[in-house]
Amino acid sequence: MALHSQIPHRLNFYDRPPLDDITIEEFETCALDRLRVLAEIESSFARNRSYDELKTVTLEQCKKYLPLNSSTAIAVDRDAERRKDHVGHFVLRLAFCRSEELRRRFVKAETSLFRIRYDSDDRVERDAFLNSRDFDWIPVTDEERLEYRAELSAASTSKDAVPEKERYYKVKWTRVPDLIEKRKVFLKGGLAFVPAREQSSIVFQEFQTHLERDLEMTAKALPRLDEDTRIVPILNNLSQGFLAGVSSEWSSSPAGNGNEITADMVDELSRKHFPACMRNLHDSLRRDRHLKHFGRLQYGLFLKVLGLSIDEAILFWRRSFSNIQDDKFNKEYRYNIRHSYGLEGKRANYPARSCQQILMSDQPGASDSHGCPYRHFAPDNLQSALLSMYSSQGLTSADLAEVMNTVKAGHYHVACTRVFEITHASQGVKKGEGVGGGESVTHPNQYAARSRELERGKDEGFKTEADGDVVMQIS
Ligand code: SF4
Repeated sequence: MALHSQIPHRLNFYDRPPLDDITIEEFETCALDRLRVLAEIESSFARNRSYDELKTVTLEQCKKYLPLNSSTAIAVDRDAERRKDHVGHFVLRLAFCRSEELRRRFVKAETSLFRIRYDSDDRVERDAFLNSRDFDWIPVTDEERLEYRAELSAASTSKDAVPEKERYYKVKWTRVPDLIEKRKVFLKGGLAFVPAREQSSIVFQEFQTHLERDLEMTAKALPRLDEDTRIVPILNNLSQGFLAGVSSEWSSSPAGNGNEITADMVDELSRKHFPACMRNLHDSLRRDRHLKHFGRLQYGLFLKVLGLSIDEAILFWRRSFSNIQDDKFNKEYRYNIRHSYGLEGKRANYPARSCQQILMSDQPGASDSHGCPYRHFAPDNLQSALLSMYSSQGLTSADLAEVMNTVKAGHYHVACTRVFEITHASQGVKKGEGVGGGESVTHPNQYAARSRELERGKDEGFKTEADGDVVMQIS
């Protein structure tokens, strides 16, 4: 059977899980692409975006990562789009059902995504979707409209509303708490009289209640998955995606972005283009003429992906560690630098660390320089560090309150994004634009690359990588 006959509408309440075979790769990529969209929705809440701004940014993200065309769309693989949407939703249910906090955030982001799709859907298809489900709403009769005319009119937010001409539906009052809170409905005998134009509130509330209930059921079923060594690490990784967004994996080859740099260029690049984590590492390296292991790892991989070749990297680190002798450098450091370029040991092509990895792993101690300053610095230190790093690029103490509020709420990469916007305002970046198209910072190399692009005044694309081919079944 063709999939679109199983998923006949673009809008979906996800009643049934996918039952066909999928590969581990598909399992992961469907979930990651959906998470990119949900994480950006969550960032939008932290950035106090209006609904219209949220809608624009989300539709843009959906176009990139989670396209879902209407049933009349031609020249697109609708079945593949709906399958991806369906699989991604159910994988994320597994990842986000495991604590009350994760469930709450997931439901909020998913309900927003549903609402945005609902509001931007084709009218005919939306009606077909509404008619396909029983929302348990009872049409209000002509007699009732006449009988309660005054009350319906008083509850209406529109001055010109004429209850006799409007369609109303009766639902149990508990199903429309938002309308009750805003006093937009007339209540009688435990039923809310909802005008047709507010019908969407019933639908959104129903979506939310339905998802909350399903997540609780999934949480109860989940312990059976705990022994699956293929799935559990993926789920653990996915559930961290709200903390710092989901980054594309950056090319791990220095030539990969076509922007080779030399050791001599790093000081200037750091001043002009580095996010706080890398700026802090660079300044520590210059001050101490040394960096500890995790600092070298975080900074070395970042520089590699920025375009520093192996020869330039050895030159850069040799000069930077100016307090030590050649012998010691060659014995203790040269091998590790070559290793991170895949030239020693198991010759792996290591990618640079994303914000999520920097925020979540290898927590820095007091004498370490790695990590994310937005998360790992004490508030006073962070404020003075930001001013010292970025005041020459336009950051002032008046900007700090907003940045620190975002940090306090735990949205570290959103704070970093706001600093990016402020420090690139002279290049035309406006509040809310992030690193392009409203996107938040999810990777230090994305920050630096975008900053360099702005300086050059041109746009470039970003790369992604994925792997895995084991077949599994979700049921
Ligand atoms: S949010 Fe990401 S890019 Fe920004 S400072 Fe933290 S780790 Fe670096």
